[in-house]
Amino acid sequence: MAIESVSVQCCIAGGGPAGRVLGLLLARAGVRVLVLEKHADFLRDVRGDPIHPSTLEVLHELDLLEAFLARPHERTPQVAAIFGGLELAVDDFAHLPTRCRYIAFIPQWEFLDFLARAAERFPTFELRMATAVTEIVEEAAGGGRSGARRWTCSGSGCRAARRTRRCRWAASRPAASSSC
Ligand SMILES: Cc1cc2nc3c(=O)[nH]c(=O)nc-3n(C[C@H](O)[C@H](O)[C@H](O)COP(=O)(O)OP(=O)(O)OC[C@H]3O[C@@H](n4cnc5c(N)ncnc54)[C@H](O)[C@@H]3O)c2cc1C
Repeated sequence: MAIESVSVQCCIAGGGPAGRVLGLLLARAGVRVLVLEKHADFLRDVRGDPIHPSTLEVLHELDLLEAFLARPHERTPQVAAIFGGLELAVDDFAHLPTRCRYIAFIPQWEFLDFLARAAERFPTFELRMATAVTEIVEEAAGGGRSGARRWTCSGSGCRAARRTRRCRWAASRPAASSSC
């Protein structure tokens, strides 16, 4: 099976919110980064839709808030619940010391797509979907010098090498229909 070699400074296993934001932050700092996500898409409900005020604040700090809010979403400044026919306010975000005092509801795949598009503005960022990291194997490298380690992963498809720490990853491409 053909193996493609890719050389990056950082390879991230998992293109969920954390992997994408980390990839974005690293690419923003000029680091060549490759994010590998095993799913081909996120068109399923594996996460919820609310984007909380604290997350919106982080988007503001990254200068991404305006673009994010341009995507279709719903705003909920207050959450209420009905107990025995009586409606009570459960959460009220009006007092928060943040820019957005509401929860923004947006489909999770929209949010993840937004993060990917924002990261792709940086030429050192790459996201590969349907690419699962299968294994990380540590090997001695550089003639066995102390501190030098080589990491490889069994599998096929794409192989990423992290040169700064003599690390390599490889990933297999599962069927696009794989589920979590
Ligand atoms: C049912 C549910 C509802 C939730 N609702 C909300 C909500 O409404 N609002 C909110 O803010 N938070 C919500 N959360 C929490 C939120 O989903 C998590 O905080 C967030 O997803 C964590 O992000 P992550 O990137 O660390 O992990 P994950 O979202 O788990 O992302 C990890 C990614 O890595 C990929 N992956 C795993 N193994 C491999 C591999 N070997 N190779 C390549 N890729 C791999 C996975 O496919 C996944 O995409 C909810 C969580 C759950 C479970």
